Amino acid sequence: MNTPINATANANLFSRLFDNLDDPARLAIETADGKRISYGDLIGRSGQIANLLVARGVKIGDRVAVQVEKSVQNLILYLAVVRAGAIYLPLNTAYTLNELTYFITDAEPSLVVCDPAKADGIRAIAQKVNAKVETLDASGNGSLTDAADREKSEFTTVQRANDDLAAILYTSGTTGRSKGAMLSHDNLASNSLTLVDYWRFTDKDVLIHALPIYHTHGLFVASNVTLFARASMIFLPKLDPEQIIKLMPRATALMGVPTFYTRLLRSPNLTKEATSHMRLFVSGSAPLLADTHREWSARTGHAVLERYGMTETNMNTSNPYDGERVPGAVGFPLPGVSARVVDPETGKPLKADEIGMIEVKGPNVFKGYWRMPEKTKSEFRDDGFFITGDLGKIDAKGYVHIVGRGKDLVISGGFNVYPKEIESEIDAIDGVVESAVIGVPHADFGEGVTAVVVPQKGATLDEAAILRALDGRLAKFKMPKRVLFEDDLPRNTMGKVQKNILRDKYKDLYKK
Ligand code: AMP
Repeated sequence: MNTPINATANANLFSRLFDNLDDPARLAIETADGKRISYGDLIGRSGQIANLLVARGVKIGDRVAVQVEKSVQNLILYLAVVRAGAIYLPLNTAYTLNELTYFITDAEPSLVVCDPAKADGIRAIAQKVNAKVETLDASGNGSLTDAADREKSEFTTVQRANDDLAAILYTSGTTGRSKGAMLSHDNLASNSLTLVDYWRFTDKDVLIHALPIYHTHGLFVASNVTLFARASMIFLPKLDPEQIIKLMPRATALMGVPTFYTRLLRSPNLTKEATSHMRLFVSGSAPLLADTHREWSARTGHAVLERYGMTETNMNTSNPYDGERVPGAVGFPLPGVSARVVDPETGKPLKADEIGMIEVKGPNVFKGYWRMPEKTKSEFRDDGFFITGDLGKIDAKGYVHIVGRGKDLVISGGFNVYPKEIESEIDAIDGVVESAVIGVPHADFGEGVTAVVVPQKGATLDEAAILRALDGRLAKFKMPKRVLFEDDLPRNTMGKVQKNILRDKYKDLYKK
């Protein structure tokens, strides 16, 4: 399957990452237990795994589905799959066998790599699509690595074109069934290279990498950006705030979901001194509360740089490196990316500050949903813009603001109610940590605006107190019909509030 190639013309992401590597001894990854992996090691090991993939019958364009714990070997497996011209398909480690049945029968991979503990269950599923199974555990051991040890490290990177697929990532499905987003070599390479420039990554950077690597954020944004910049990363299995704070004096950058920042802020060890060696804190994948942004700036002297992206599009917008990083805004369209806000019904572009559907176009935008041509067609406009499903606005200065997923919009008595607006008002009330506003079926109004509030520990808040505080600040139709209290909001592993769970829990609230 190895085609002789002219290295400079190969659009394979692996070639674009490594063909011009000057110093193979350069450090690429350090693990929490002190292992050091150089760029040369990554290339050599990926060659061994790529040879094994070929030996196992993985062909160009085949899917390799991977559900394993985060490890350096897992990252190298990703590089090897791409290098071999196959399609990398990572799966959230939280998925159960039942859920995996859907992904594996939908994607029809020729190889599934899983944790040894799940191998028996997965073999039964893999059989249905004639896929082989290999194992890889959290410490990087398993049948995959054993067999790869016996392969040679030389491997000619398979020739790929810009639009050929490098990965399929299933969307997290907080609003509907997971769909496989098909991402090309150029989707991934172009976006990472843009981010290297925009966020000023260089070979001096050391990224604290505590995100999972089955999601676009940890896999593509964090890992590809580091590797393109010839920087290095400290690979941590998961978020451990104290460990991150301890590493900051020898790191320069952190990429996290908002939960990282709220959890880090809870530590008294998070100080200006502790963060003085760091140059960049990036947040994304879910909205960072403006309050968290301000508190972070006050405590550390660093303004978090918030960016906006999605599985289907890679990164779309980012707050500026030099200019103002506005709390609650996701910044400007990245170079090469066009973003607009349109009326969701007519598709007509709206004026500054008007709320509508955010649409994007650019080399970052995916090739469509796996085996769903109709769905793909309906999510793109005729002029090539992708309908993100996010509602938002672009202000007079050009900053993009997100007000929520379109499917989270509440329509009460025929009026559109944007949850973010109500949530911001509620969050500003003393004693409130955060809130989620949802629409719940209501006989008179269609949907009743319903607020779920997380109070601070010890705060004496009740429904009447919240409604009193909102009185006069919100139009009557936006006022919550009910205010409920919870200790925490349900979140998925990427920190996104799962409003579908809240809607389900309270679905009978207004039933007489
Ligand atoms: P995913 O495909 O899992 O990365 O989820 C993408 C979705 O996360 C987007 O469509 C947005 O709804 C949300 N999202 C990502 N980044 C942000 C952000 N900075 N602020 C608000 N929502 C965000």
